[in-house]
Amino acid sequence: MDFELDDAHRELRDVARAWVDKEVIPFSRDWDRAESVDPAIIGKLGDMGFLGIEIPEEYGGSGGDTLAYCVLLEELGRGDSSVRGIVSVSLGLVSKSIKYFGTEEQKRQWLPRLCAGETVGCFALTEPDIGSDASNLKTRAERDGDDWLISGTKIFITNGTWAEVAIVFARTGGPGAKGISAFLVPTDSPGFGRTEIHGKLGLRGQRTAELTFDKVRVPDSARLGEEGKGFRIAMSALDKGRMGVAAGCVGVAKAALEAAVQYSTERVQFGKPIASYQLVQEILADIAVDIDAARLLAWRVADLVQKGKPFGTEASMAKLFASECAVRSTNKALEVFGGYGFIDEYPVSKHLRDARVLTLYEGTSQIQKLLIGRALTGVNAFV
Ligand SMILES: Cc1cc2nc3c(=O)[nH]c(=O)nc-3n(C[C@H](O)[C@H](O)[C@H](O)COP(=O)(O)OP(=O)(O)OC[C@H]3O[C@@H](n4cnc5c(N)ncnc54)[C@H](O)[C@@H]3O)c2cc1C
Repeated sequence: MDFELDDAHRELRDVARAWVDKEVIPFSRDWDRAESVDPAIIGKLGDMGFLGIEIPEEYGGSGGDTLAYCVLLEELGRGDSSVRGIVSVSLGLVSKSIKYFGTEEQKRQWLPRLCAGETVGCFALTEPDIGSDASNLKTRAERDGDDWLISGTKIFITNGTWAEVAIVFARTGGPGAKGISAFLVPTDSPGFGRTEIHGKLGLRGQRTAELTFDKVRVPDSARLGEEGKGFRIAMSALDKGRMGVAAGCVGVAKAALEAAVQYSTERVQFGKPIASYQLVQEILADIAVDIDAARLLAWRVADLVQKGKPFGTEASMAKLFASECAVRSTNKALEVFGGYGFIDEYPVSKHLRDARVLTLYEGTSQIQKLLIGRALTGVNAFV
C-alpha cells in the first residue's frame, strides 16, 4: 500500500485548498447563520470539476481516482462541512450510483448536468420509522402498466429541496432487502412534495428535507438497476460513501486543529502564549495524531477500491474512527479557545456542531461496530 500522493493528487489538493480559502471559508459563518450556503456554490463546484471526480469525461466528469475523491473531500471538509456534504451526496451517492448501475440513457440524462453543477441529486433511503434498519423500509412502488407509482415518506434527505433528481428506494416486492428497488425520480414529478427541515445543530448551510410521494408516476426506464436489487445499490453507495465521509471528517478535524494552533500562539495568559503550556500542547498533539490515523484509514479504503479488493469492513472502520475523531478533535480544539470557543466569532464552535452528525449518518457508530463485529465473528447481530 502506497500512501504517497502523486503529482495529480497534490495538484488537486493545492487547487482545492486555494479555492476553499477563497470561495468557502470567508462566507462559512454567514451561511451557517443564514441556514443556507449560497446556492451559487453548486455551479462553482461544477466549474472546478469537483462534482465530476471519478466520473468518465464522456459523461461530463473530470476523471481522477478514488484517492483523488478522498483528497478533495478532506479539503472541502476543512472549508465547510455543508459544502462537503453537498458533494458527498450529489457526487458520492447519486452520480456514482448512476455511473455504476445506470443504463446508458440514464447516464446521458443525468450525469452531465450533475457534474456541471447545473443541479444536484439527493439519495432518499431513510424514512420516519426506518433509519438504521433500512432493509425494512415502507415506501412502496406499485406497477401500473409500464409505469410505477411511488408512495411514502423520506426524512433527513440532504440536498432534498435543491435536487432535480432523487434516487428513491422503494419496496416493489416482499419484506426485507430483496423486495427493494431503486428509482431515479425527477423532483418536479406530480405528487412529489418536499419540506425543508430547520433547526439543525450543525450542517446548517446544507438543505435537509422531508420528501413525500403521493402516487408519483415514473416509467420503468427510471428504475436504477434490476428490480429487487435496490438495497444492494444503496449499500454499495454507502460503503464508498463511508470512505468519503471519513475523508470529510479528517478535513473538519484539521480545520479545528489549524484554528486551535493559531489561537494558542496568539492568546496570552499568565504572561505567555497558551501554546507554551504543556497541557495545551497535549491537546494539540492528541488531535494531530488522531487526524493522521483517520486519514490513513480513509486512504486505505481508497487503495483497496483502486485495487478492486473488498473494502466494506475497512470502510466501516474508517468511518467509525474518523467520525468519532472529528467529534473528539473539534471538542478538544474548542477547549483551547476557552470561552471564545463557545461563540461563533471563531469557527471552532461551528466545526464541533458540524462534526456531531458524522457519527450518526451513513450508518451510526453502533451500526459500524455491528458491521465490523459481523466480519470478525461471522455472527450477524442484525437478525
Ligand atoms: C443532517 C442529516 C442528513 C442526512 N442525510 C441523509 C440522506 O441524504 N439520505 C438518507 O437516506 N438519510 C439521511 N440521513 C439519515 C441518517 O442516515 C439516519 O438518521 C441514520 O441512518 C440513523 O437513523 P435514525 O435517525 O432513524 O436513527 P435510529 O436507527 O432510530 O437509531 C437510533 C439509535 O439507536 C441505535 N441503534 C439502532 N439500531 C441498533 C442496533 N441494531 N444495535 C445497536 N444500536 C442500534 C443507533 O445507533 C442510534 O444510536 C441524514 C440524517 C441527518 C441528521
